[in-house]
Amino acid sequence: MNIVWYRRDLRVNDHLPLSTAAKYGEVLPLYIIEPSLWQGGIYSARHYAFVFESLEELSVRLAEMGGCLFVTIGEAENVFRKLEEAYGTIKVFFHKEKELSKSIRYHCLEKIGIPFQEAPSLNGEKATIQSKMKWIRVLEGESELAPPKLKLPERLPDWLSEPLGKFRNYHVPGDLIPLGQPGGERKAEETLQSFFKGRYMMYEGKEEGLLKASNYSSRLSPYLAWGNISAKTVVKKSLGELKEAKTEEARKAINSFLDSLYSRFLAYGNSLPQKNRQLTIEEKSWNRDEQERIQTGRTGIPIIDASVVSLTKTGWLPYSLRAVLATFLCNGLQLDKQLVKEFLGSLLQDYDPCILDRELELCASFSGKRITVYFHPVRAGKKLDSDGAFIKRYIPELASLPIKYVHEPWRYTGFYTLGYPVPMKDPDTIFKTIKLSAPAAENRPKKYPQSSPEIGEQLSMDLFDE
Ligand SMILES: Cc1cc2nc3c(=O)[nH]c(=O)nc-3n(C[C@H](O)[C@H](O)[C@H](O)COP(=O)(O)OP(=O)(O)OC[C@H]3O[C@@H](n4cnc5c(N)ncnc54)[C@H](O)[C@@H]3O)c2cc1C
Repeated sequence: MNIVWYRRDLRVNDHLPLSTAAKYGEVLPLYIIEPSLWQGGIYSARHYAFVFESLEELSVRLAEMGGCLFVTIGEAENVFRKLEEAYGTIKVFFHKEKELSKSIRYHCLEKIGIPFQEAPSLNGEKATIQSKMKWIRVLEGESELAPPKLKLPERLPDWLSEPLGKFRNYHVPGDLIPLGQPGGERKAEETLQSFFKGRYMMYEGKEEGLLKASNYSSRLSPYLAWGNISAKTVVKKSLGELKEAKTEEARKAINSFLDSLYSRFLAYGNSLPQKNRQLTIEEKSWNRDEQERIQTGRTGIPIIDASVVSLTKTGWLPYSLRAVLATFLCNGLQLDKQLVKEFLGSLLQDYDPCILDRELELCASFSGKRITVYFHPVRAGKKLDSDGAFIKRYIPELASLPIKYVHEPWRYTGFYTLGYPVPMKDPDTIFKTIKLSAPAAENRPKKYPQSSPEIGEQLSMDLFDE
């Protein structure tokens, strides 16, 4: 039996394992809900809801192709053993994923001797590509795969015949997102279309303010992270639009978007840059009070709290606020990176282990991408949310404060009547801690180049400007 093992590739279009398996005869597309992944780790209810919506649509699309999606709960190794017992011989087809491949090969399929075929993903396989131009050239030479015709298995084990609806209420810890993005291949396609219909012209429209940031970036991240759309599809669409672009402005916006996609490629394929890593930080755990204040957005530092509340409600933050939050937690509070990863990963709807790991490393080593990272938490707020609209939206206690106090409410004479907490740590002390922890960064020149597409990342500016 040819099994297509779905994981973070929840789509039918441009799906190499599905197309390959279909050539061999009967196909059993399978999603395994692994308790070890979903219980007590980074994955939370908001991720499961997105995945479940994606599975619902996948199931419809596979049925249109003559197939059927099968879902079961169990550890992958046990599920494959049971499938082998049921069918005699099986072969498992799946996408290579940098983060998961090693564990899957060595602790699961390889260990139990089940044949498998990993589809080379553009991300993992072509790690040797050294520049954005070469990456584009490789992609130009690739074609997208249309969904194949499928042949249903004639025989099915009883335990695999449960309707998808049964898994809707599988309990995963954590809260759902009131204002999140719905999962599924169609939503991914619509989001891509709407981006290139006009939103892209304002790509990274920083001058529009944080509240509008979500309109002007692509918002493709959860769809790419859970594989509702392939990176190849997005890049090829962008290259097509680039060819058609009539103005310099349009070309600039699309190129900037391609820089982001190239960063994604780097996060998957390449190891971290080794520069700027002479840090003096000793990472620590958080205490109960600290943890509660951070997780509920009550640190007393408005831009940090507004970011946490926004992330909790929507599952998304623009790059700039992710960087500010990560820098505050990793460098300002010197928290253990694993804790920060768990905290942010469980809230980000687009949680992607490869990207989050890399970005945390880059923030912790003061090398953020294409963004001015203002390490003083109050100055960061003032720069990024100059009219205070973002803070006012997410912290109701500060909604009626005059703008001059929004970023520093403790300076307001009536502060104690607001019901907003005093900072858990003095922002100037945080700034000094950050400064001390980055001797290498402090010695760097103050201004860095505007873009550096060949390396896909960009050093920060204004690191320690007073
Ligand atoms: C601390 C921190 C944590 C992050 N964690 C994640 C994460 O878990 N998952 C995630 O998808 N992105 C993560 N990012 C990268 C980036 O912030 C998000 O991809 C982006 O904000 C998502 O919005 P968008 O899809 O509208 O992005 P766009 O700007 O429209 O970018 C298009 C796509 O390019 C990719 N991309 C953009 N920026 C990066 C980057 N710096 N590195 C790698 N890929 C990138 C994403 O897939 C994104 O969807 C993180 C950034 C920081 C600073």
